[in-house]
Amino acid sequence: MRTALLLFAAAGAACVSPLNTSHADSSPPPAYALVIHGGAGYPSRDMSPEQYAGLTSGMQGALSAGLASLEGGAPALDVVELVIQILESDSNFNSGVGAVCTANGGHELDASIMDGETLACGAVGGVTTVEHPIALARLVMEETRHVLFVADGAEAFADSLGDRVSRVPNSFFDTERTKASLKALLDRRADESASKTADDSDPNEIKGTVGCVVLDSYGHLAAGTSTGGLTGKSFGRIGDSPIIGAGTYADDETCAISCTGVGEEYIRYAVARDISARMEYLGMGVAEACDVVIHEVLKPGDGGVIGIDRQGNVAMSFNTTGMVRAVGNSQGRFDVGIWEGFEDL
Ligand code: ASP
Repeated sequence: MRTALLLFAAAGAACVSPLNTSHADSSPPPAYALVIHGGAGYPSRDMSPEQYAGLTSGMQGALSAGLASLEGGAPALDVVELVIQILESDSNFNSGVGAVCTANGGHELDASIMDGETLACGAVGGVTTVEHPIALARLVMEETRHVLFVADGAEAFADSLGDRVSRVPNSFFDTERTKASLKALLDRRADESASKTADDSDPNEIKGTVGCVVLDSYGHLAAGTSTGGLTGKSFGRIGDSPIIGAGTYADDETCAISCTGVGEEYIRYAVARDISARMEYLGMGVAEACDVVIHEVLKPGDGGVIGIDRQGNVAMSFNTTGMVRAVGNSQGRFDVGIWEGFEDL
């Protein structure tokens, strides 16, 4: 099932472009391209102008930086890390400084990164003192024989790298927005019987996980994802974002993928790898594979995904009301959007 999703150009420009685009039949492929997400969720369309401006300007800034870096010849992995670090420094998003709160009021951050050329990958889960988890994930990939470090082990690995990893107290991640979201959630939980759903946060909350997928000018793909997880998550809970094959995947032969949504569902269905496998085994294009998994495997409200292939075809599929997202390429595309057809905002 393909949905006719529309994306508006950034900064209120009037042109409308198809959400998922293919170069297979018409124009030559772009030399480079990237897609970014800032979380899917059930954001009500009447969000405050301040919140809308914060999310879209954050996307625009990250997209501009990513495109400039690609234009300068940076490899895909560097661009993924750069874009995600920018968003980890922006408290509008649920990653880095804006990471949401666990049920006990702390912050546990997850991130992963993958190189489509070599299938090298690295990830960290449940880190509490690392300013940029995506950077630590990359160091796991490049400096160890392993793929995933969690909690105390990830902190010890960061310790071993000294000044190469920026460390902060856990309170660095406290923001008024995330504290208020946790309080509202705990009040609701006190009123209602205990929720059995993985995500019982405010349905109108933008989830804010960030991710990036890149095709560089050398023809290589990379993907990364970074998150604080779900508001009110249990101590020690890890979602899909640091799980290679669930929240993140990249393979030059197929696609680069970053997911956002209810992590338990993305783990259950190995969403990122499933999209790649559909391309490999069934010959689907990246947009079709993303749409099938988001609309036929997952259920409405679970979340969204971004994807890209080596021809620069892009996918931005979601089964929530909105997904904060941006897409750009060497041919001048520069689009930022939240809603399916967000002209009514
Ligand atoms: N997938 C993330 C998690 O479950 C959250 C999100 O993307 O909103 O941790």
